[in-house]
Amino acid sequence: MMVALKDFDTKERMQWCPGCGNFGLLTALKGALAELGTPRHETVIVTGIGCSGKTCHYVNTYGFESLHGRPLPVASGIKLANTGLTVIAEGGDGDGYGIGAQHFVHIMRRNYDLAYIVHDNQLYGLTTGQASPTSLMGMKTKTTPWGVIEKPFNPIAHGILGGATYVARGFAGDPVHLKELIKGAIAHKGFALVDVFQPCVTFNYLNTYQWFQERVYKLEAAGHDPKNRDAAMEKALEDSKTDYKKIPIGLFYKEERPTYEEQLPQIKDKPLVKHDITNVDISAAYEELE
Ligand code: SF4
Repeated sequence: MMVALKDFDTKERMQWCPGCGNFGLLTALKGALAELGTPRHETVIVTGIGCSGKTCHYVNTYGFESLHGRPLPVASGIKLANTGLTVIAEGGDGDGYGIGAQHFVHIMRRNYDLAYIVHDNQLYGLTTGQASPTSLMGMKTKTTPWGVIEKPFNPIAHGILGGATYVARGFAGDPVHLKELIKGAIAHKGFALVDVFQPCVTFNYLNTYQWFQERVYKLEAAGHDPKNRDAAMEKALEDSKTDYKKIPIGLFYKEERPTYEEQLPQIKDKPLVKHDITNVDISAAYEELE
């Protein structure tokens, strides 16, 4: 089925600040869905809470804005109920690597067939600029007026070690490159993480578009082999090892591994939603609870 880019537009009034990196990310996401020809009625975008949470309102597919840090459990539930759907989870760095960190860790080792896109703006944007797990050391925010003193969380290294089978990082300032990474994530069979540098032009005065443009380089152009796990880990640590002077973007790691869903005998032949429930009687269970 052919799907045009404009088919994914909605009539919602966008509430992101002018110049926000979320616009580049949204363009890349819609472009990826259109180029893959993903049917809108078979696609679900699940978000958490934050500026990123609005994404599901701005793409004309099914959508679910869940709780803070909870897009992954909701997305995995949807996938388990109907394995035929394309399920995309989205959230911010605070949402996914802070509040939702426990879900992130366990969902990766299970390898659900989901694409997880993280709007990584290195702070909490919707709550007006507090330090997040990926804020760099020394960064001054409302909650860290003398600068962050904690080491930042490394999502790429955690993704590779944690069992994600597709681990990539893009930059919202390069939506064409990012679109390819998102396409790869959606097409991949297994858990795909795409961490996206998404400049917050209103509250993050350190990690600006220019800051990233001066530092990022593409792994594909550097001859990186995404099947090589050791090389992927090496690249994942390059940013901190170079004091963020060199920051790789692109596909770090990819492997094939059975998904969680395909190992469940209950849904091997057909998804849960296609099971016949007309003869299921749960009144005995209700009576026991009375
Ligand atoms: Fe974007 Fe930051 Fe504005 Fe949120 S607060 S919409 S992340 S620029």
